[in-house]
Amino acid sequence: MNKLIKIAALFAMAALIFNCSSIKGSSASSNVTVQRFNSNSPHGWEADFHVISSKKGNILIDPGKYDDEMASYIKSIGGVQVILITHGHWDKLRGLDEAVAANPGVTVYVHELDYPYFKDPVRNCSIENDFEGITETKAQTLTEGAYNIAGYKVEVIHTPGHTEGSVLYYFPDENMLIGGDTIMLDLVGSSKHPGGNEADRQASIAKFKKLIFPDDMKIYCGHGADTTYAQLMQTNRDLK
Ligand SMILES: [Zn+2]
Repeated sequence: MNKLIKIAALFAMAALIFNCSSIKGSSASSNVTVQRFNSNSPHGWEADFHVISSKKGNILIDPGKYDDEMASYIKSIGGVQVILITHGHWDKLRGLDEAVAANPGVTVYVHELDYPYFKDPVRNCSIENDFEGITETKAQTLTEGAYNIAGYKVEVIHTPGHTEGSVLYYFPDENMLIGGDTIMLDLVGSSKHPGGNEADRQASIAKFKKLIFPDDMKIYCGHGADTTYAQLMQTNRDLK
């Protein structure tokens, strides 16, 4: 994306987010299905992740695994065109190679600052579990801004702190947000891992609190239950 288009996209995103107050409380009509999965293993890679599907297209978020259950579900919806990574921790990448192999032509997106985590077992935290997790999968890198991804309008909101390239994926037309490990029901994911930064985390918390979303916007989180924006602001101790 050249600089001018990128600046225009950023202005468009800001206008979109700050104008949401005018539709506060409304529910954007959409026929999107969001299927939740849980991954775990004897090595402790417990995480929740999601598959988005509609007539627009199908997107797999953070493939924490790609086992028979996943393969069967994704086959039933005709495959996925895109894999979105919220950040480069191994519990989001563990099933990536298998997911790419099972979905020929799929495009993987990750923020440019977390792409190096694909090949860095320290930063992707696999080494913490005595395993050197590396993926050779190639990805397209993102920065903050507006994108069209698999037929969806997607606003990428950069929220570093948990990792350098942690992002939120906001789908305004579907009235939903992918929170990763940053925006979760109870808390904002910690900065304690390699690549984490507490000052950045605090800045991202302040940034998120300035954004306005519809109360009934659905939020899908990297660990724990899904929520809504209104509920999140009651339950998340870091956002109160
Ligand atoms: Zn994480």
